[in-house]
Amino acid sequence: MIDSMRKIKQQFSNTSVDVYLDGTFNHLSKLVDKKNAVIITDENIFSLHRSKFRNWNVITLKPGEAFKIQLTADAIIEQLIGFEADRSTTLIGVGGGVVTDLTGYVASIYMRGIRFGFVPTSLLAMVDASIGGKNGVDVGAYKNLVGSIRQPSFLLYDYSFLKTLPDIEWSNGFAEIIKHACILDHSSFKLLLNNSLQSIKKDKKLLTSIIEKNVLLKSSVVKKDEFEKGDRKLLNFGHTLGHALETQYELTHGQAVALGMVFAAWLSEQMLGLKKSVEIIQVLSQYKLPTIASFDAERVFNILTMDKKRVSDKMNFVLLEKIGKGVIHPIKLDKLEKYVSTYSNLNKVGK
Ligand code: ADP
Ligand code: ZN
Repeated sequence: MIDSMRKIKQQFSNTSVDVYLDGTFNHLSKLVDKKNAVIITDENIFSLHRSKFRNWNVITLKPGEAFKIQLTADAIIEQLIGFEADRSTTLIGVGGGVVTDLTGYVASIYMRGIRFGFVPTSLLAMVDASIGGKNGVDVGAYKNLVGSIRQPSFLLYDYSFLKTLPDIEWSNGFAEIIKHACILDHSSFKLLLNNSLQSIKKDKKLLTSIIEKNVLLKSSVVKKDEFEKGDRKLLNFGHTLGHALETQYELTHGQAVALGMVFAAWLSEQMLGLKKSVEIIQVLSQYKLPTIASFDAERVFNILTMDKKRVSDKMNFVLLEKIGKGVIHPIKLDKLEKYVSTYSNLNKVGK
């Protein structure tokens, strides 16, 4: 077999991350000492890829965002004590965003911080969650309220994990890929518009190039603004309303973000004269993401104001100047409340 793995180094403020693209899971044993490492994964990934985990110390979590909570972090810590993990132990998160967020979080606090790396197994984790060092847990309705920013030592990509990824998780990943295109890269947007979920899933080369492009897009934003003082906020496109909808309704992260992006595009049309916002709706539907939802404007607005992006009576909202160029736009809360209410009424009568 031809070894296609490529290594790139991403430099951050006080650390660097080794990124192994198009690699294989087996390479993990070259990056860490098996005896002094603990893998954290979830039950789905463990049962679908059981043979890969042979001879590793493994902590298996219940799958799903509902378990991205402090109680799970505590349970992981208990098991690390059981494995006699110490300051020299490496934690490896093998999974989707929930697993990587929890792994980074526990690795940041266990013994005041130990080495960690990721093998992202969902499309979303590959293009988004595993990049940038944000980790943490949810608290009640508040997503990622507790956590830190700390970069992993390495990221190892093994695209063969995607063979078992359920359809809904493909759409979740594409929500973030579409987000990156909207805020950063018009040519990626065109490519997505000219393709569909089905056509990309069938074309391994195209899929690989899209994943790798998105690794670079996200990393470049994070490298410029690791601690989210400015441009990194752009990555919140679609996430302000998205997070509020996600906590209030039965939606996946990708579905909620898709709806949040449609709202942000509509707002961009109203406030900045964005053109062709209909293309955003079109692209989302080509990746099996929702674009219309009726929701309780008052309830959603109340949750939305608890968002970390709120600064006293204003909210830093990510809008689009044009497709491919996101901008951070402060909006007064009372004005935003009116927009949310108008928009939810538009959706009710069926736009
Ligand atoms: P994210 O969408 O942030 O990656 P999760 O960590 O919750 O969030 O992963 C989404 C779901 O996909 C979980 O149920 C997880 O078990 C499952 N999953 C992740 N990777 C794979 C994979 N390669 N094959 C099958 N299921 C997977
Ligand atoms: Zn997201």
